[in-house]
Formats: sequence, C-alpha cells, structure tokens
Amino acid sequence: MSLFDLTASDLLARLQSGSLSSLEVTQAFLDRIQRHDQSVGAFLRVDPEAALAQAERIDRKRKRGEPVGRLAGLPVAVKDVLCTAGEPTTCGSRMLEDFRPPYDATVVARLKAADAVLIGKTNMDEFAMGGSTENSAFQLTRNPWDLGRIPGGSSGGAAACLAASMAPLSVGTDTGGSIRQPAGLCGVTGMKPTYGRVSRYGLVAFASSLDQVGPLACSAEDAAILLEVIAGHDPLDSTSVNRPVPRYSETVREPLAGLRLGLVREHFGEGLDGEVEAAVREAVRVYQSLGATVRDISLPHSKYAVATYYIIAPCEASSNLARYDGVHYGYRTDRREMLAKLEAERTNRQVSEVAGGLDDVDNPLVRMYRQTRAEGFGAEVKRRIMLGTYALSAGYYDAYYLKALKVRRLIREDFDQAFGNVDAIVGPVAPSPAFEIGTRIDDPLSMYLFDLYTVAANLAGIAGMSIPCGFNSAGLPIGLHLQVPAFEEERLFRAACMFQQATDWHTRRPVLE
Ligand code: GLN
Repeated sequence: MSLFDLTASDLLARLQSGSLSSLEVTQAFLDRIQRHDQSVGAFLRVDPEAALAQAERIDRKRKRGEPVGRLAGLPVAVKDVLCTAGEPTTCGSRMLEDFRPPYDATVVARLKAADAVLIGKTNMDEFAMGGSTENSAFQLTRNPWDLGRIPGGSSGGAAACLAASMAPLSVGTDTGGSIRQPAGLCGVTGMKPTYGRVSRYGLVAFASSLDQVGPLACSAEDAAILLEVIAGHDPLDSTSVNRPVPRYSETVREPLAGLRLGLVREHFGEGLDGEVEAAVREAVRVYQSLGATVRDISLPHSKYAVATYYIIAPCEASSNLARYDGVHYGYRTDRREMLAKLEAERTNRQVSEVAGGLDDVDNPLVRMYRQTRAEGFGAEVKRRIMLGTYALSAGYYDAYYLKALKVRRLIREDFDQAFGNVDAIVGPVAPSPAFEIGTRIDDPLSMYLFDLYTVAANLAGIAGMSIPCGFNSAGLPIGLHLQVPAFEEERLFRAACMFQQATDWHTRRPVLE
C-alpha cells in the first residue's frame, strides 16, 4: 500500500503514532507534485523549502512531547484566493500577479495554528469567476481522469490536486458551486458550508453575499476534520456566525436512521446527461437500501436560479472589483508609456477643441485607471463587471438587481418549504461529466447554464456537498449533490459518510503516467 492510498485521517493517525513523520509525508506529496503537476497544472505555486521546514518543525515539536494541533504535520493545499502573509496571492489574475498580502486569511491562520503544512496555492478561474479553471490568467488545470478535459471550477486546482494524490486535503471557495462542481467532476468530496459558517476574512471577495470557504477531501470523514479546523466565529468577519462548531469528525461515521431524502422534480429535465441521471438514481437506491425514504419534491423557482445568480453575483463583483485601481495595490499600467502615448494623441487631436477642457480620455488619472483595468482583468471578469455595472445603474436597478433579490427570497422559501418534509435534497451536482478543454469557454451562456444545480444553495445560504457516485462509460467521475438546511453540516457529513461506507467510488483514483 502506498502512502497515497491513505486518507487524511489515516495519515493523521500515523503521524500521531510516529509510524510516519511529517517530513516523510510532505516529501512524498512534494515528489508527487514534482512528477505530475507538469501535466495536471493544479498548483500555481509550491514552496518545497518552506513546506519541508514546517514539517521538520512539527516533527521536532512532537518529539519534544509538546502539544500539537489537529492537523499536525499534514500537508494542505490552499486555493490562491485566500491571503497568505508575505506570499503571493493572485486569484488567478494578472491584476494581483505580484500581490503579497500583509496578513493571513483567518482560514489560513487557523490551518497554521492547527500545525498543518501549507503545501501550495492552487489554480483557479480569475477571481473565482468560472466553472472550468480556463479563466485563470496563468495556466490551464487538467482533469486527472482525462487530461484533455477541464477539472471544473473555479476551484479546479483544489479538486485536481486531490484526484491526482498531490495533497490529502485542500481548501476551496464556493460562490455558485465552485467547490461542489469541481469535486464532482474530479471524483472527490467537497462541501460548501452554510453562509457564515467559515470566516471570509482574507478571502478576496467575489460576491460577498454568496462567497463561502469550504473543505475538499477524499472522503466525508476527511472533509469533516478540515471543516472542524477552519469553521467558527471570527470577529474580523461580521457575517461569520457566532455558533459553536460541532465536532463533525466524532459523529461523521454514525449513519442517519430514517433519513428522508427529496428528489427535486425540476432537476431531472432537459439538459441532464443520461449516464449522470442513471448514476444519481442508482445512488438513491443505495440510500434506500440503507433505510432512507425518498420522495419527489418541487422547488418551483429553481428555474430562475441561474438567471438570479447571474444578476446578483456580477452586481456584487462589479462593486467589489472597483477597488482594483492600480493605485493601492496590484497591477498598474506602465505610467511612462501611457503618458507618452497621451501626449502624442493630444498633439494630434488638438485637445483645445474638446469642450470643457480635459475629458476622460485626456485625464491622466482616469486614463491610468482605465488602462490598468483593461490590461489587468481577463475577458470573463470584464464581462461580469459590465453586466453588474449595467444591472446596478440608475433606471435598471429595480428591473434587474432588485427583482433578483426578490426572486432570491422565493428560492430560499422553496427550500424552507421542502425541508419541512425532507432531511436532505439529493440530485446531480452538474448536468454532465467534465467536458473537453476549449469547447465551451467562448460560449458564456452554456458555461452559466452548467451551474444550474449548484447556485441555488448559495442564493439560499444553505449547505451542500458533492460526493462521488459513479463513472460514465468514458471513465469520467460523476458527483452526487446533497443539500441540507443552514447549519446542518453535521447531518450532511453523516449522510455522505453512510453512502461512502456502502460504496467505494470515493476511493478510486486515476492512473497518471
Ligand atoms: N461557476 C460560477 C460562476 O462562474 C460559480 C463560481 C464560484 O462558485 N466561485 O460564477
């Protein structure tokens, strides 16, 4: 048995008993990254020296008999949207290519306090906008199950590094599905906790009313351990909720008796791939064999979820991204070149003809903002900024943004209704398995429609999870989506774990040459 067949919880047990040292474990994962990340592209940055130094520190601490943290000596990968003090945090964007935050995100600080070994920062769609990781300004990430296909996104690197056994745990973020969807497409386990469960302090904002940090892992049990470490109230994030964090890892293995599952009628319509549907229906039968009851339910407003999300998320993004002005931090256009060009244009055009003196184009400051943003942001980010700015502008605000907020409320009420009758909602996490790189990226509408099963959970603020439930005939993983009411993560973990105790889909790994 290789070290890569061990779960995070197995590895932690061996680290604790001393049968493996953190140095050995960390070195093994670093070697694996060295060998395979050329072809997968999951990591934007790995710092072997820092990781090994941290591993040695933890080993020494343990040898001296000092108390160690919950993740002592275990490598963890972090999505490059979470601030790491003094280390590059790019968000997959040119805009932040050279940005080194002066502080750690609370999640990162908690990982460090738990004595984890931060093994690297993972690739993502620029500012987490996307579902394939093709929007990264730096590199493609490939699906370890088929290197010609996308890993999903935006946390594509976070999911791919697990599937390729390049890390035992990883942290991602989910604004509209970015943990669950890549987890599903890469055959790993990923959870979006309830809005407010995990601190967003130091998470570079995309859409603040939707963003949530969460765990990706190779099993529900491992994800439970990770959430336990990163969750909890944080005075630095006013939206983080002051509620105790249950010991998820202590209860995760207890099956739920009499589990009532809901199958959403609207989720089994047009656009759903036949093999995905078959795998999901088979998973439901597994639950039934474990004593669960299943009933059809309706989320009547779910057909508006994608439209609502793609108003609200861009609106919030356009506001959040206004901070990238080329002045405070991040990318700035070449000033000298810009001024020279401006000067030349002025001479050509005779600026004096412009009524009122300097107009926008001739104002060096405005020009600097414009050029900085034109050069620093990629196409999808610009598209969202324009969509959001439009939907928030006077005259359109009521018709789009305000309307979307109202529909958001209806979507949330649908869930409240449904959860009166069922404990968890089950269905597909994505309409098809991973598609081929380059086939959809120029068609934003088809990219957005791919999110139809995941965005509603973010709009409603509830918790959701994706677990592997099979493969299609081409050998691509299929994810099962489970959703529960807000703050019922414990139920979610237990529901996922009882499935994983009865199946072995989550233990399958691709062969990498
Ligand atoms: N695919 C969705 C989007 O592009 C979700 C992204 C996310 O959850 N960060 O907005």
